[in-house]
This record gives sequence, C-alpha cells and structure tokens, in this order.
Amino acid sequence: MQFKFNLGTAAFFGADVVKQNASVFSKYGTKALIVTGPRSGRESGALADVVEVLKSLDMPCTVYDKIENNPSLATVEAAGKAAQACGADLIIGIGGGSPLDAAKAVAVLAVNEITALDLFNNEFAQTPLPVIVIPTTAGTGSEVTPYSILTRPDKQTKMSFGNDETIPKAAFLDSRYTSSASYEVTVNTAVDALSHAVEGYLSRRCTPVSDLLALEAIRIFGDCAVKLSANSLDFAAREQLLYASMLGGMVIAQTGTTIVHGLGYSLTYFKELPHGLANGLLMQEYFTYNYPFAGDKIKNVLNQLGLESIDEFGALIDSLMTNKLTLSIEEMQQFAELAMQQRSTSYNIREVKQDDLVEILRKCFG
Ligand code: NAP
Ligand code: FE
Repeated sequence: MQFKFNLGTAAFFGADVVKQNASVFSKYGTKALIVTGPRSGRESGALADVVEVLKSLDMPCTVYDKIENNPSLATVEAAGKAAQACGADLIIGIGGGSPLDAAKAVAVLAVNEITALDLFNNEFAQTPLPVIVIPTTAGTGSEVTPYSILTRPDKQTKMSFGNDETIPKAAFLDSRYTSSASYEVTVNTAVDALSHAVEGYLSRRCTPVSDLLALEAIRIFGDCAVKLSANSLDFAAREQLLYASMLGGMVIAQTGTTIVHGLGYSLTYFKELPHGLANGLLMQEYFTYNYPFAGDKIKNVLNQLGLESIDEFGALIDSLMTNKLTLSIEEMQQFAELAMQQRSTSYNIREVKQDDLVEILRKCFG
C-alpha cells in the first residue's frame, strides 16, 4: 500500500452548528466578506444565522450576493475588489457549489493583485485569506475540497484551480439549509455527489481510504434513492444526503473526477444543463464504457446501490431526471475534443481516446 491522504477542513456537522461554534469565526478573522448567491443564502436561513453570530462577536461583515451559477471570472474579480474595499480578512461562502467555489477564488484575489485568469497558475505570492463555508445544497462537496471551478470563455469550458492553500479552513454542514432548494436542484446535486463517489472509486488515483469513503457515499445514495425520486425527503434523508455529499467531496479531494465531469462541463457551458444533471445523464454509458476494465468495481457500485445491472442503474437515473438533449455530430466531436484537454480525463480507469468520448455522447444524445 502506498498513498497520501489529506484532510484539510475542520467540518462541523449537525443541526445548529453555526450558532454552536461562533468561536470558529473569530479564530480566523476580524472582518468578513460573505460571498453568496441572490437566493441561496437568504432562503436557506444560513445567511441570517451567520449574520447573527457575527453580530454577537462584534465582527463587521459585508454581504456580496451576486454570485451566479457556474461563476464567471468577472464576478469573482468584482467580489475580490469588494473584499479589498471592505478590508476583509475572512471570506465566508454560503450557498451551493457556485458561491463556495467563488469564495475560494475571492480569498486569493482579495490579497493578490492578479486577474481571475491568473488563478489557474495555482501559485499565489500572498497566502489566500481563510475561507469558512456553509453548503446549502447536498452535492458538490466543495466544502471539503480545494477546488474552485470557474467558467473559462477563452477555453469554452469550465476549469478548476486550487491548491493546499485554497481548501476551506472550516465547514458548517446543517442539512436544514438544504430544504429550501427546489426539487430539481435537490435531485441534480444529489446525483453530482453520487458521481463524485463513483468517479473517485473508478479513478486511477483511488486509494484504500478514498474507496472506503466512496462506497459509503454510494450506499447512502442508494438508501435515499426512493425518497429522492418520490420527492419525499425528510430531515433524516436530507442529513444523509448532505453527509454523502461531504464524503464525495473528501473522495475527489484525493482522486479528482474523471470523464463524466470532463464531458459534463461542455453540456453546462454550451447547453446550459445544470452540473448534476449533466453528470447524471452520462453515468449509465460511463459504466458501460468502463465495464470491461473495471467490472468488479462497477459490480460493487451496483451492489451498494441495491441494483443488479447497469440497465437498472439507467432506470434509476430515468426516475430522477429527464434527458431532453440531442447533439449534432459536430457538437459531439467538439465536446469530446474539449474533454480530452481536461486533466480529469487522464484519471479515468480505462485509457480514453477521443473517439470513445464521441461514442459515449452518441449513445446518450445521438
Ligand atoms: P449552484 O450553482 O450553487 O446553485 C444552483 C441553484 O440553486 C442556484 O439558483 C441557487 O441559488 C439555488 N440554491 C442553492 N441552494 C439553495 C437553497 N438552499 N435554497 C434555495 N435555492 C438554493 O448549484 P450546485 O450544484 O450546488 O453547484 C454547482 C457548481 O459547483 C458548479 O459550478 C460546479 O462546477 C461546482 N462544483 C464544484 C466542486 C468542487 O469540488 N469545488 C465539485 C462539483 C461541482 P443562488 O443563485 O441564489 O445561489
Ligand atoms: Fe461535480
């Protein structure tokens, strides 16, 4: 056995953890910029809880609530300027993956005179500000990963940056904050979490520890699948999904993702599919493609989900999401070419050729 395992974030899990751990905020800063979306922070109740805690600590804070889905370079630059203008020494991200990823970028830009494009050099003269995050979706696991995924118009895709310094210092996971998300967002994000666990488990970079976390996340998704497709998630199921999402984040923090994410980015960039939906629509063909090279592991995944076959997995996805997309052959070729340039593609357990990706897209969207 030979592996490295990093756990960089102090994660606090459970109802009311924000208010119960006020001292964590003062440990990392004296003046905060809260980075959130127009709705997620407020509708989840997380923003109000954080503002109340900061007030009790006499810590001044400014709210930047203009983070859009799939954050742009311009938006994180503007938020970085807002952090400088208010003299923030702590960045608090509240929301789904978009605001959390944006918060990591803002933490770098607040103290480095660089453009957002320079973030992708992954080396920063000044250490980024500390980041504390509060997820309001159960999906990305961004609260425990160093990655920040931003839209790159110059490359016509989404790309991630991140290093040991961009992992959040602390994360507060309170599943009550996920209950205001729409059913569609809830399903898409749950499938994103599943896809992190599965891609990590089938990655060339998997380790014994990441496999353990991945299988548990997959098992929990399987346990919650019926309630998820019936839109009858109770508090216990939401808590389980948030836990599984965190485990999925811990997995990809070690392994990275693979071709599901690599191809999914084009479906989001060009076709505006939400991130989790894009991944979900690709997963059945991803299993079929990798089966000759990872049959035993794929059987383990199906077993954890309580399923007998890849076809049954396809039926499960069909019960959760609808595929309305068709692609032209030119689009398939373009998306496959772009995915070949993603680092994550090289982590796939089966060595990937561009034509293989075209074929996966043809089977899904032809
Ligand atoms: P999201 O883009 O953050 O949010 C989707 C929508 O849901 C937004 O309209 C958001 O509102 C709304 N929303 C979120 N939580 C809500 C709540 N509790 N109540 C009401 N509305 C809520 O979705 P996401 O799937 O969580 O994140 C996707 C992003 O994360 C993508 O950019 C993806 O690439 C990235 N990602 C990152 C990692 C990582 O390791 N860092 C891993 C996977 C994916 P607002 O607009 O108001 O926020
Ligand atoms: Fe993802």
